[in-house]
Amino acid sequence: MEWETVIGLEVHAQLKTKSKIFSGAATQFGADPNTQACAIDLGFPGVLPVLNSEVVHMAIKFGLGIHAEIAEKSVFARKNYFYPDLPKGYQISQYELPVVGKGHLDMQLEDGSTKRIRITRAHLEEDAGKSLHEDFQGLSGIDLNRAGTPLLEIVSEPDMRSAKEAVAYLKALHTLVRYLDICDGNMQEGSFRCDANVSVRQKGQEKYGTRTELKNINSFRFVERAINYEIERQIALLESGGAITQETRLYDSAKNETRAMRSKEEANDYRYFPDPDLLPLVITADMVNAVRQHLPELPQQKRDRFVQEYGLSIYDATILVSDSTMAHYYETTTKTADGHAKLAANWIISELLGALNKANLDIETSPISATQLGTLVKRIADNTISGKIAKTVFEALWKQEGEVDHIIERHGLKQVTDNSAIEKLVDEIIAAHPQHVADYRTGKEKLFGFFVGQVMKASGGKLNPQQLNEVLKKKLS
Ligand code: ADP
Ligand code: MG
Repeated sequence: MEWETVIGLEVHAQLKTKSKIFSGAATQFGADPNTQACAIDLGFPGVLPVLNSEVVHMAIKFGLGIHAEIAEKSVFARKNYFYPDLPKGYQISQYELPVVGKGHLDMQLEDGSTKRIRITRAHLEEDAGKSLHEDFQGLSGIDLNRAGTPLLEIVSEPDMRSAKEAVAYLKALHTLVRYLDICDGNMQEGSFRCDANVSVRQKGQEKYGTRTELKNINSFRFVERAINYEIERQIALLESGGAITQETRLYDSAKNETRAMRSKEEANDYRYFPDPDLLPLVITADMVNAVRQHLPELPQQKRDRFVQEYGLSIYDATILVSDSTMAHYYETTTKTADGHAKLAANWIISELLGALNKANLDIETSPISATQLGTLVKRIADNTISGKIAKTVFEALWKQEGEVDHIIERHGLKQVTDNSAIEKLVDEIIAAHPQHVADYRTGKEKLFGFFVGQVMKASGGKLNPQQLNEVLKKKLS
């Protein structure tokens, strides 16, 4: 039997505000437990929530970023449930009327094609606190610092057909919220969380299969693994005559498996109703226009511009715009390198990103600055150093040994372009290998590479390869 996978994602993006969505308490991550929860976050009787205007501003930004309808009027609703980390007994969320309506996001697949994912809605809500099970013997602690932190829940249509597509969508969304500067995107700290809804159906069947919802996935790698595990579990179950139960499952990354956590709750279990403490949220066209005017260049626009302006491939441009800091780094490098855009892209993608990855650093903490790398590229382009020697300079820059021109000077790395100097080296090598020269002259042309290697080695890698080729050809014939 042939099966098809269907995936829809619900993403919670923590909005980067200084204070909470309905109170003035700070949102900073990592404070001592319960030092950032005020009477409103603690759900004391008689307190009243007041909406943080910055949160509204950010929701509008997001709506514009996914080309969505922004609701003129949306409503905050109470979602009622009991849990120790939710002292009010309800979470303030949006239900029937969300602030952001239907939109879409295009994502780049590995084969270079683009796929559009429809976004159903995005709504504002408050986060709950945290239960801490590890700190006390036989007891659980409750930390309410996170209670009331603003979240934007972004719900996609079930448009993804593989774990890889789900990751591509999630990455595109991650890039977008960081460009918009509305979320720091830190998955380890839980600022960008994802629940994956997964089902399978037989190829050709129109009706969706029963889905499960996977929770607790906190990295791109785990999203892919959790979904793939779940697809196999569902197919095996169906093929052995079983049925899928609609339920919430927890992903265990240590065991790489999903486990049933609870049966799926229905919307009516939550007794949603409009929160009487909050007025409807009204957004005027003027407010939307004001945000629109300050919208930054978005990832796709930037990618298209990089292709146009710098002559990059879509593949390279996609890598460079995946993070706005990296895109900025690239443009500074290119500018410093007098516009040698492709060479700059190559050095960032193959050398710098490789080295950063190995050292577990990112572009923001790169030991080599964009102007340093730009100068390096410039010195390759103007033939001061060869591409090979440039790697030596790159390593010295990485170890923070100083500026490019200094390093070249101090280590004597300048490319030799003086013809007579090259000729002298070539003559020496030819004199040292009479047999090879004889063989070459009687037709063993493959030996040419041997001579190039020998001369290069004798020069310490400092010759211009093209120039060396010319001199060698002349002398050997
Ligand atoms: P709930 O609020 O109960 O989680 P929704 O109907 O709002 O449910 O859907 C939540 C997510 O589940 C959406 O992202 C949607 O695309 C996805 N989804 C719905 N049905 C399926 C299905 N059969 N298979 C996979 N994903 C689904
Ligand atoms: Mg859900």
